[in-house]
Amino acid sequence: MNSYHEREMLIPFRSALLPQIFTDVVIVGTGVAGLRAAIEASQQNDVIVLAKESIDLSNTSWAQGGIAAVMNAKDSVNAHIQDTLEAGAGLCEASAVRALVEEGPVENPATFEMGNARGPR
Ligand SMILES: Cc1cc2nc3c(=O)[nH]c(=O)nc-3n(C[C@H](O)[C@H](O)[C@H](O)COP(=O)(O)OP(=O)(O)OC[C@H]3O[C@@H](n4cnc5c(N)ncnc54)[C@H](O)[C@@H]3O)c2cc1C
Repeated sequence: MNSYHEREMLIPFRSALLPQIFTDVVIVGTGVAGLRAAIEASQQNDVIVLAKESIDLSNTSWAQGGIAAVMNAKDSVNAHIQDTLEAGAGLCEASAVRALVEEGPVENPATFEMGNARGPR
């Protein structure tokens, strides 16, 4: 049996002969999280986004009901957090819920301006 340091390749190849692509940032995934991160990172870096199979293979491609956020005075951040935690039935991380709910009113309009087709209704 090989030791940990003796790596065995299933296919023999010499890495020096493979094509090389240089970049500052590699983002794995073409959903809303990956693409939003790519837009941000591309302000100051070269970015490559990797897709598993095709660009539109993501949960984001399936989502079409809209994005919930506190967008008017009748709603409140605390009520939205409470609703989300209840709907999450104990599976939600409270600090992540708070961050998402608090940043939603700013982030949602920003993504609409970037071309998110699910704009305000
Ligand atoms: C049918 C449906 C309807 C929905 N409706 C709504 C809605 O109305 N409103 C709402 O807010 N949310 C909705 N959601 C939830 C929403 O789609 C997700 O919360 C959101 O899209 C998650 O975005 P994401 O970028 O984190 O993940 P994803 O969009 O899933 O992106 C993950 C990416 O990572 C890639 N990936 C995964 N593993 C690998 C790997 N090993 N190597 C390379 N790439 C990999 C995937 O191919 C994909 O591109 C819905 C989800 C579904 C399935």
